[in-house]
Amino acid sequence: MKKEFAVIGLGRFGGSICQALSEEGLEVMAIDIDEDKVNAYANIASHAVVGDTTDETVLKSIGIRNFDHVIVAIGDNIQASILTTLILKELGVNDITVKATNDYHEKVLSKIGANRIVHPERDMGKRIAHKIVSNNVLDY
Ligand code: ATP
Repeated sequence: MKKEFAVIGLGRFGGSICQALSEEGLEVMAIDIDEDKVNAYANIASHAVVGDTTDETVLKSIGIRNFDHVIVAIGDNIQASILTTLILKELGVNDITVKATNDYHEKVLSKIGANRIVHPERDMGKRIAHKIVSNNVLDY
């Protein structure tokens, strides 16, 4: 059976994850509180839903527990990101990846049991720095 993914928050980060998963031919549900964002992904994702994921009833009605992997890509609203992650854990979602915006956010996410925490700007900065260094080494 194909794995089913859900992406919560369709900013640049969540949107690009949603698009990449769809391009891989995977089932992905796109969820955002902002109707315009959801409309923009209606033809990209398998399903697109408007909803506030800090509301447990919204996540239950989507059947979020049945997804194999949920990606929480709410960045700036740290409270919404933490609350959403907590509810996902309580509802028994198996695999949760969350975008963190700072070290304290990351610590809280890890304490409430997020399975994977990403810090896109920091991670990408490190990766690019390593690439620059390794290219320079090869140049000499
Ligand atoms: P990025 O840096 O990835 O571009 P952004 O700065 O555009 O992100 P963020 O504030 O990080 O935006 O939020 C990402 C998305 O999460 C937004 O599209 C926003 O509407 C959505 N979002 C925020 N709060 C909630 C919520 N409670 N429920 C669902 N979606 C939410």
